[in-house]
Amino acid sequence: MKRWILLAIGIACSGIAAFGAMRLATYSWNQVVGYRGPFADLDPERFTGARPPLDSPVPGANRPRTVVVLIDGLTDAASRTMPTLQRMRATGADVRLTAPEPSLSYPCWTTAFSGAPPQISGVTTNWYEERVKVETLFDVAHGSGRRLAVAGPDDLDVLFGVSQLTSATALVPWEEGEHRSGRIVDSAISFARRGADFLVVLLPDVDDAGHAAGAASERYRKTVARVDADLSRLVAALDDGKTVFAIFPDHGHLPDGGHGGWEEPVVRTFAVFSGPGVRHASADARLEDVAPTVAVLAGLQSPRLARGMAIETVLADGNGRARDADFVRACGFALAYAREVAGPQAVANLGSLKSRSDLERVMARADSTRLHADRRDRVPQALALGVVALGVLAVIGLASWRALVAAVSGVAVYNAAFLSLYFLVHGYRWSLSAFNEESQIQSFFNARMLEAIAAATVACVVSALVYAALRPRPKGPQDGHAAGWLALGAATVLAIQAVLGLQIAWFLWRWGASCVWRLPDLRWGFKYDVDLLQVTALAGAAIVGPAATYLVGRWHPRTRAARR
Ligand SMILES: [Zn+2]
Repeated sequence: MKRWILLAIGIACSGIAAFGAMRLATYSWNQVVGYRGPFADLDPERFTGARPPLDSPVPGANRPRTVVVLIDGLTDAASRTMPTLQRMRATGADVRLTAPEPSLSYPCWTTAFSGAPPQISGVTTNWYEERVKVETLFDVAHGSGRRLAVAGPDDLDVLFGVSQLTSATALVPWEEGEHRSGRIVDSAISFARRGADFLVVLLPDVDDAGHAAGAASERYRKTVARVDADLSRLVAALDDGKTVFAIFPDHGHLPDGGHGGWEEPVVRTFAVFSGPGVRHASADARLEDVAPTVAVLAGLQSPRLARGMAIETVLADGNGRARDADFVRACGFALAYAREVAGPQAVANLGSLKSRSDLERVMARADSTRLHADRRDRVPQALALGVVALGVLAVIGLASWRALVAAVSGVAVYNAAFLSLYFLVHGYRWSLSAFNEESQIQSFFNARMLEAIAAATVACVVSALVYAALRPRPKGPQDGHAAGWLALGAATVLAIQAVLGLQIAWFLWRWGASCVWRLPDLRWGFKYDVDLLQVTALAGAAIVGPAATYLVGRWHPRTRAARR
């Protein structure tokens, strides 16, 4: 009777854990996708005095014609095969950039054009389909009286409202299958001939080739060569020695296609700057530094909420007071950020702020203060989950130490099986780059859930074998021990869920389920999501697993020998 009750409780607990994990997975996913953050309304001007209005020119600054070209999905390695870019690197600035995570197009476009990474802009996925809340180079150029022209995919209008800001736009729909960069470049050249002096061009074809065939493919190589020819026409038509060029991708691509995660070829990208005011130099920077750098070179104010700053090493001069203006703005941002994140204490007794690294230090200290406080607040919740998970193992051990040893062996087998499939067979990482297309997300998660059930079934078979080996004369289910053998399966599945629960508790302590002022570390966040999916799927294993342990008990040579 006791075994039947334990069996029923085991299956019920497994179901409750699965339901909770499913709810938590949905909640956490939506928190990242729906994150908007508290920064869009930040008021840097409280700290530094009002930034001069955009229509008052930066004192002493030249305002050269400026051409910004974003080549979507171009890897750093591929960019070094492009003769046009290599020629510009030979005289201009060659910058190694790091893109933010998630390394998806909309978050990275927004970072590049505003200097505000996803944490600040609130643009965390390509499902963001409204006007971006932070100021961008488009707003700055328009507000400063420049003749802005934009050529690229029509998403630029949805996100940045460019058609209301420009004197001319050529927006093409984002559809695969035809090469669009040639047409986009033609439009840009004609806008320049008609007097546009701040051009933004976005070339989408390389990203399409990356998704279709991967960055290591012949198709990608050919597309890169074709885009280089388009770019070469653009540069030849506009380079009059008085034009500034800034050319960079949003993110790279994996050799077999995909981006979104943290992999080197995806997040280690580049920017090339050339023209008046650019020093022949190389530097390391972040994608969020591009917009302020372009602003200084163009003799404009930087976008207000840029977390990045103009890259000093690539600036031949300050372009009048433009570099100073960017530093003053960046001070205001850093102080407002620190105050928002960690409260007024974070900006008390700071001393003087002289350099970029001073500002970085102020923001990093605010981050760590807040994270520390958040983690302290989350200890009880994480501890409670951890205690429940360990309690499950303790109850199994109290019912039967042999069952606990068997179940723990099952946990080891489960993890070996599931993780071998995940890392070795499929070659996945804990990374958003696992989905080359959004349409693959559902099937990815479904397949992991099926594999969790399969791995748990194998784990239950092993658990039953271990149990049989531990008993001197094991009795089979047909000798009145049916409930015990069934309960062993339920206990094994529950033990697997409990060990996953401990890992989930660790993540909840470290990053929490909700996103209030920052995104979690997305590598661990991805693991956390996969862990929750496994706990969810294992409710299915709580039905299949007991059947497996029962059958092993029924047909095991030692239980049959014991019968005779
Ligand atoms: Zn893409």
